[in-house]
This record gives sequence, C-alpha cells and structure tokens, in this order.
Amino acid sequence: MNNDPLPSIDQKLCTGCRRCVDICPTHALDQTNDKAYLRYPDLCTYCTACEDVCPVNAISLPFLILLAPALHPASQDVSDQHLALSISSQPPRTKPGLHSAHSAL
Ligand code: SF4
Ligand code: SF4
Repeated sequence: MNNDPLPSIDQKLCTGCRRCVDICPTHALDQTNDKAYLRYPDLCTYCTACEDVCPVNAISLPFLILLAPALHPASQDVSDQHLALSISSQPPRTKPGLHSAHSAL
C-alpha cells in the first residue's frame, strides 16, 4: 500500500481544462472523459504545480499530520514523553520535505 501523500482531484469540480496535465513536470497526470486524474502516482514528486494552476480548486494536496515531542513550558527536555500535535503555518510542500520532517521525529 502506498502511504505517500498524493494529489486528489475532485471530479465534480474539474472542468477538463488540462492546465494541470500540461504543467505537471513528470507527466503524472492524464485526462479521460474530459476529467483530469492521477494516472501515474509513482511519478508524482508532490511539487504542487497542479494545485496552484487549477482555476477551480479541484486539486487538493493533503499534508501529513505530524506528532512531535512537546516542549513543555516547565521542562525543555524534548525527551519528555508528552506528545503534541504539530501544525506548521508553513508545512513542507514537497514529498522529500514531508519525509524529512517525518523522519526527524
Ligand atoms: S486544472 Fe483543474 S479543472 Fe483543469 S483539468 Fe486540471 S483538475 Fe480539471
Ligand atoms: S504535484 Fe506536481 S508532480 Fe504531482 S501530479 Fe501535481 S504537478 Fe504532477
């Protein structure tokens, strides 16, 4: 099972303009029945270009929710077993960035 984050294309919103298909640098996207879809998931580098170019916001790229060691105010000991949900305002936007953040925990 592939646990990598991948773009999700809302088929109801997609107008078939092909902008995402044309801009995808790895040719991971294709179109059928006037709707875009992720044809080759393994080619996706999570560059976000398709999400940025879609005029109707039909493409969403899910982010991983990371569990990080809590920095408790009374104790800066990161070995503390408390865990906190870490949501960054600037989450990693590339697949390598996501893997890097995940492996750093
Ligand atoms: S850019 Fe958006 S509307 Fe256009 S084909 Fe891709 S998903 Fe569909
Ligand atoms: S995130 Fe980048 S590589 Fe992946 S399908 Fe979209 S444009 Fe292509």
